[in-house]
Amino acid sequence: MPDDAIPRRSGASVVTPRKATRRPPFPFTAIVGQEEMKRALLIAAVDPSVGGVLAFGDRGTGKSTTVRALAALLPPMTVVAGCPYNCAPDSTSGLCPACTHGDESQVASVPVPVIDLPLGATEDRVLGALDIERALAEGVKAFEPGLLARANRGFLYIDEVNLLEDHLVDVLLDVAASGENVVEREGISIRHPARFVLVGSGNPEEGELRPQLLDRFGLSVEVRTPEDVATRIEVVKRRDAYERDPAGFVASWAKEEAKLRRQIVSARNRLARTSVPDAALDRAARLCLALGTDGLRGELTLMRAARALAAIEGETSVTDQHLRVVAPTALRHRLRRNPLDETASTTRIERALAEVFGG
Ligand SMILES: [Zn+2]
Repeated sequence: MPDDAIPRRSGASVVTPRKATRRPPFPFTAIVGQEEMKRALLIAAVDPSVGGVLAFGDRGTGKSTTVRALAALLPPMTVVAGCPYNCAPDSTSGLCPACTHGDESQVASVPVPVIDLPLGATEDRVLGALDIERALAEGVKAFEPGLLARANRGFLYIDEVNLLEDHLVDVLLDVAASGENVVEREGISIRHPARFVLVGSGNPEEGELRPQLLDRFGLSVEVRTPEDVATRIEVVKRRDAYERDPAGFVASWAKEEAKLRRQIVSARNRLARTSVPDAALDRAARLCLALGTDGLRGELTLMRAARALAAIEGETSVTDQHLRVVAPTALRHRLRRNPLDETASTTRIERALAEVFGG
């Protein structure tokens, strides 16, 4: 790519912290319940190749709080200072054009980004905008990075993902598959890395998700409002304590947070050495056959998620127990729906698990 392809590093392209209040996010370890969602996010944080996380369920169950809490829990990332795409200084591939040109002497440590993609966002805002007039007048490729640039190496969060416009869904499918955002206008093009964990949430009763997008999510979780009194009381107590004194509340959970952070770091280090025995692959294949999931993506995701879970638990080999725990999360959104079969997906998976693994 020629030199004039270097993106503008204008003030507007610098990642700014979320404009909300300065109060620290609610601690991940202080979240009551939501075990399946927390586990899915931890798995995606340890091995982003499992794909994104889809959280379906009731409103006001703290799905967005959980995502922000996870990002705050993760160790800060090292980036090339000033790079609008959060390029990793130690990386040799997947760099933006500017960093590829070797201007990466300065490094900075930044929090893992959680970028909201609002419904109704324009393509320019999501993809970034090429200034065609400036390109024609000055012969430079002036590019204003968008939300996909800011989300690189972090999380892209879409609330009500099932209501996202088709043209944005198409864009996301392309970028999620390639890890790269390509913007083309009138023969001018720019590309930059855009690898992120896609987290979507929504209520399935308000609209179906397109099958191609559904398939892009490695994991899916059902989030419910807790129904037992003791859990509800604990949720309210902690929320109240946090609202009254955010800093004090966060400080009181610092030890727990540090412990889980160390666990994530060692899981990431252990992942490459965590093995999947043939017996586990055999079980995974039988389970997917029994459920009639389409293609092999389900099996691949099941295997990766089980491996990441094993690494999180400090083990070096995948067991039946890991497969059992992650199977509903990895497979429930991949089941073919039979309108005459009233059985919910989760129940079907539990039945197949009992069949394959024994009661
Ligand atoms: Zn860069």
